[in-house]
Amino acid sequence: MTSGRNYIIAAIVTSTLLITYLHYSTNPNIHALHDIYREFYYIPILIGALVFGLRGAVLTYLFVFVLYLPYILMNWTGIFITEANRFLHILLQGLFAFFAGFLIDRDRKHREQLEKERYLAGIGQVATTIVHDLKNSLITILGFAKRIQKGKGETESAVQTIIDSAQNMQRVVHDVLDFAKPIQLNIKENEDIRSIIKQACNSCKTKAEEEGINLLLDLPANPVNIAIDGFHVERAIVNLINNAIEASIKGQKVTVNMMSEKNHLIIKIKDHGTGMDKETLKNIFIPFYTKKSKGTGLGMSIVKKVIEGHQGKISIESQIGKGTDVTIELPYKLK
Ligand code: ADP
Ligand code: MG
Repeated sequence: MTSGRNYIIAAIVTSTLLITYLHYSTNPNIHALHDIYREFYYIPILIGALVFGLRGAVLTYLFVFVLYLPYILMNWTGIFITEANRFLHILLQGLFAFFAGFLIDRDRKHREQLEKERYLAGIGQVATTIVHDLKNSLITILGFAKRIQKGKGETESAVQTIIDSAQNMQRVVHDVLDFAKPIQLNIKENEDIRSIIKQACNSCKTKAEEEGINLLLDLPANPVNIAIDGFHVERAIVNLINNAIEASIKGQKVTVNMMSEKNHLIIKIKDHGTGMDKETLKNIFIPFYTKKSKGTGLGMSIVKKVIEGHQGKISIESQIGKGTDVTIELPYKLK
């Protein structure tokens, strides 16, 4: 980001210098040409305003002013209307810089405010959802533990239900913790990614069965070793499979497959469910953005954090009514 800003500053300075050079190197009597060059100054001023707001616009304007003023003084015609025209132009450029910068700053602040409000509203909503989620799982655990204590029902299935509920609680707690603090990746060399993906699918099996979703896994026959934080990548894949299951209806397929490329591997999670509209696709990685009544909206932002922490990429293709393909690219070796 900082280097991006440096490039923009370099572009503003270079373009201003170039336009000024045109002024100084062109015959001052060809007024039409100088009028055109003068208009060019609006470009760096506008870029300054768009990228750096009021401060950028005014500083660029002052830079233009300092460079252009000697040209006016050196080529002073003494003709009132010509000089008045030049100064009026300089004044208008100053006003333009000020208002463009001011409006852009105001718009930015407004958007930041909206984001903050949504963030706070999100936290409130998520807190309710989390407590609700945890409470439901706790009730289940307590209920089944008491049944086991009294020797009622089948113990094995009761224990499984307790484990599932505790895992659900664990997922919620992990999601919130992962979101709340920067993720500390614990990268291990030579992890077989296949076992991590397998483990992720196993964690989602019960949910898939309950929803009547056919969860299919397609992995290469030989080990695929990679430098990775298995724990976090597994949870990222679990998040994606859960989303795919939640978007699907009974009888549909969710497929998870993996392919090896030369320098990276590709993991695809594909569903044939609801798909997403443009708005959802645009906001999907924003924390707390959810369209589910019981969602936290944290899943995808955590997934992105984890994948980018591995210098990987995540992309989504989705069509309403047709389904969604999520593609993850992970480099074998971290730089
Ligand atoms: P949550 O699942 O808690 O809502 P996520 O960050 O995991 O939060 O997802 C954000 C939103 O993105 C979901 O509410 C849903 O609308 C949309 N979404 C994510 N994955 C899919 C998918 N596979 N199909 C359709 N919509 C999806
Ligand atoms: Mg989710």
